[in-house]
Amino acid sequence: MGILEVTGVNKRFGGLQALDDVNLNVEENTVHAIIGPNGAGKSTLLNCFVGRLTPDTGTVMFDGQSLIGRKPYEINQMGVSRVFQTPEIFSDLTIIENVMIPSFAKRDGAFKLSPFAAVRAETEIREHAEQMLLDVGMADKKDMDASAMSRGDKRRLEMAMCLAQNPKLLLLDEPTAGMARADTNNTIDLLKQIAESRPITFVVIEHDMHVVFSLADRISVLAQGHVIVEDDPQFIKGNPKVREAYLGD
Ligand code: ADP
Ligand code: MG
Repeated sequence: MGILEVTGVNKRFGGLQALDDVNLNVEENTVHAIIGPNGAGKSTLLNCFVGRLTPDTGTVMFDGQSLIGRKPYEINQMGVSRVFQTPEIFSDLTIIENVMIPSFAKRDGAFKLSPFAAVRAETEIREHAEQMLLDVGMADKKDMDASAMSRGDKRRLEMAMCLAQNPKLLLLDEPTAGMARADTNNTIDLLKQIAESRPITFVVIEHDMHVVFSLADRISVLAQGHVIVEDDPQFIKGNPKVREAYLGD
């Protein structure tokens, strides 16, 4: 059984069938890419995983539980995070303080217990945040203001904030869109580093084939709202259905 199982998902926007009987099985601790031409329905599908859209029909199971009808914050609490669309970065806090925020948010109430418990909890949260910064290669910058960061560092910080919630499943919608090649390669390295550092599952929507083939263990190809192929990367490029879907894109 996969960690994310999608069966028969349909989504219509007026006269447009954006998702047409989508089936998807994402195995735990893998990087699963969803590729396809513009307008294929990739973002719509991802929005059905995070509770921003509700499918008209079909099931979405995460870790054995249905996600249908749940609110975005509930799905987030179950262990599903969307990267690079994290809560805002607070520019008047330091980098590590920003990484501590998601953990504080998760523990709400813990600080009403006692001063002792509060100090203990804060120490744990800070140590956890330090580890997240280490994992994304920003440990040396932890006490810097979050106001003056390069774009690359901003991405790393967003990733650390996301990881601080200990998600089981990370969703990324075109993580390298609009990036120059050097930034793209840095992002690929960062994602690889994270994937290898812990038990975590990635679903990556991506247009850039270089990114897809650098990262993915498994690929689903979406075209006109339907998964036309699901296979290992080495079988995707030569697949005539995939070539046809990309013609004219
Ligand atoms: P992709 O991410 O693969 O480029 P999308 O999921 O964004 O594709 O869009 C799939 C189709 O659904 C497109 O034709 C798009 O115009 C349409 N669409 C997406 N969101 C909406 C919406 N909220 N209302 C109407 N049509 C939409
Ligand atoms: Mg999209």
